[in-house]
Amino acid sequence: MSQTLQAVRGMNDILPEEAEQWEEFEDMLRDWLRAYAYRPIRMPLVEPTPLFARAIGAATDIVEKEMYSFIDSLNGEELTLRPEGTAGCVRAVLQHNLLYDGPKRLCYLGPMFRHERPQKGRYRQFHQVGVEALGFAGPDIDAEQILMCQRLWDDLGLTDIRLEINSLGQVEERSRHRADLLAYFEERSELLDGDAKRRLHSNPLRILDSKNPAMQEMVEAAPKLIEYLGEESLAHFAGVQALLKDAGIPCRINPRLVRGLDYYNLTVFEWVTDRLGSQGTVCAGGRYDGLIAQLGGKPQPACGFALGIERLLALWREQGGAAPRIAPDVYVVHQGEQAYRFAFRVAEGLRDSGFAVQLHCGGGSFKAQMKRADASGAALAVIIGDIEAAANEVSLKPLRDESKQQRRVAFDQLAEAIGELLFD
Ligand code: ATP
Ligand code: MG
Repeated sequence: MSQTLQAVRGMNDILPEEAEQWEEFEDMLRDWLRAYAYRPIRMPLVEPTPLFARAIGAATDIVEKEMYSFIDSLNGEELTLRPEGTAGCVRAVLQHNLLYDGPKRLCYLGPMFRHERPQKGRYRQFHQVGVEALGFAGPDIDAEQILMCQRLWDDLGLTDIRLEINSLGQVEERSRHRADLLAYFEERSELLDGDAKRRLHSNPLRILDSKNPAMQEMVEAAPKLIEYLGEESLAHFAGVQALLKDAGIPCRINPRLVRGLDYYNLTVFEWVTDRLGSQGTVCAGGRYDGLIAQLGGKPQPACGFALGIERLLALWREQGGAAPRIAPDVYVVHQGEQAYRFAFRVAEGLRDSGFAVQLHCGGGSFKAQMKRADASGAALAVIIGDIEAAANEVSLKPLRDESKQQRRVAFDQLAEAIGELLFD
């Protein structure tokens, strides 16, 4: 006997019970995105590998060790399963010249791939909602994106998510900070772990992001980027904070918030919860004014964020907000040759009227069929025997309400009768 095949480690099947919850969630997301005038865009799951090295930065976790890259054996192209959406979105925007008539608000939802160690809240295929505002320079759009997140948490009934923000300033400000940071770490090199030593010259800012408890004290006391920001950067940061204050959204300025990707500048933010253990960041984003030019476009400012859907759903579930299972309205049970043919007409007729109908297929005793009807979660059973079929009638039986009786209904009045039972 051959062994059953398993899914790739870290890549999950989302089974119907859960997939229905996803769909409910995605419906809410679409309404939410429309409320802020973001329009959908869909990019391929596979992009040319150089796109990510160029967009995300060669010295980042993602590009260093998390990408599913491969050579297309048919034509030798270097390809990568997308580890995030911003690079591909900007690539698409440039390729199709979408900014020709002004700024754009774009959004997408879909799987991302990173070769990480799988654990709760961390998978190799996971899903993100990405929100990108391209061509906007001011702090207004940064603040609006943060308000937007707050609205989603409110819509979902989520509490215990807190906002952390920081400003990464501009390139020149970062490079002055970087020089001082480098000197600071070099003086204390005996305290650096392997990861930090490796990053020291490629990406010292990322050392601030380290979660190694042994390094916390030293990292805490390191030079803070915010002290290197010039007037304009500070004004932008203050502008974001003022709008957050107006909206009543509390936030913590976290000077160590540097984000994993190279392309950020000025505002960066994360939404974090303590309810999901160590994978507590549900949403992360910020401004990336340099990326469009870096990918060959005319320089344009931009700001965006990504939500981790698995983590957000886990939090939603944890806070009791999960949607109920979506059951059919009606389950059609039938017994007899004539009834069998009539049941198809009845089911299609009810679907014409807009009802969700599960037609019993596969035969079986009346009792067994009624058991299935019950298990389906349907509110009503339509029961058809040859006698009913001959009279162009059915029996309509409420399955969830003991106070309501089974009764005979003519086929041409069935939709109306069901409507009354379901909605009155
Ligand atoms: P982390 O520090 O947790 O690795 P990150 O900085 O790599 O996160 P981003 O690239 O900013 O994450 O992605 C945005 C969001 O996508 C994260 O806040 C998280 O909610 C989600 N996410 C990132 N990587 C994964 C993953 N491997 N599995 C599940 N969700 C993920
Ligand atoms: Mg990561």
